Amino acid sequence: MNDYDTVSADVEHEDEIPEDHPRYQDLITRHRIEAGVEKGITHLQGMHAEGRGSAFDYLLGEETIPSADAAERAAAAHLLLADRPVLSINGNVAALVPSEMVALADATGADLEVNLFNRTPERLQAIADHLREHGADEVKGLEADAHIPNLDHERSKVDADGIYAADVVLVPLEDGDRAEALDEMDKTEIVIDLNPLSRSPQVADVPIVDNIIRAVPTITEHARALADADEDELRAIVEEFDREQALEAAEERIRTGTTDE
Ligand code: ATP
Repeated sequence: MNDYDTVSADVEHEDEIPEDHPRYQDLITRHRIEAGVEKGITHLQGMHAEGRGSAFDYLLGEETIPSADAAERAAAAHLLLADRPVLSINGNVAALVPSEMVALADATGADLEVNLFNRTPERLQAIADHLREHGADEVKGLEADAHIPNLDHERSKVDADGIYAADVVLVPLEDGDRAEALDEMDKTEIVIDLNPLSRSPQVADVPIVDNIIRAVPTITEHARALADADEDELRAIVEEFDREQALEAAEERIRTGTTDE
């Protein structure tokens, strides 16, 4: 019998999933994505994205490896140093970690901006409402009065005083085209993605190869611990971080089940 035979896939509420289940995190994640689709927050394609992520997380051992933790600390330092940090929210992010993204925004002084691949006014509004239900005050992304260069019209829409003007952007679970276009705008890009070979982490200044449900609370914990750090200390953390090493360590863990770390 496999793990999935022990818990029905269509539980009404995630509290019904036993915490000691060997694939607990995966079941929670799937349940939240399904609920997101039902609520009009997550596109059906988000389920496929989640499936890909789930396979990589299985191979990572569903844990935050040391290089991912180092990346999460560097991400916290970047966000604290930033003049205009923005956290980008898509349908999967909103379904999986709404209150956690609000907590990270609070801990770092960042703005939240809804930014969708499959953009409809209804989904934008549903996500903004969902974030407000989870404690957000201001949600950007509805104005869409600026464009990211080198992307097709609909996919490029952002707020002029949000992602467009940001110096540091957190873009979790992002598609490669947009991550590349943001990279070309010379922003500091922090990407959360379980596939280290995907284009988004490959172009990121800080690639975080970890499940978003672990990564975001960990970045927030680091940001809180660094709240009183001076600029020199934060800059040292940023400079110490080695993006190539982080990508290699994650790939090695996924391919072999071990790391040198
Ligand atoms: P590319 O970046 O080359 O366009 P892709 O087409 O696989 O790659 P998308 O499907 O747009 O990218 O993005 C989904 C990405 O998010 C995948 O790389 C997937 O591994 C990752 N992902 C899915 N669920 C999670 C999660 N819970 N936490 C972190 N990453 C995730």
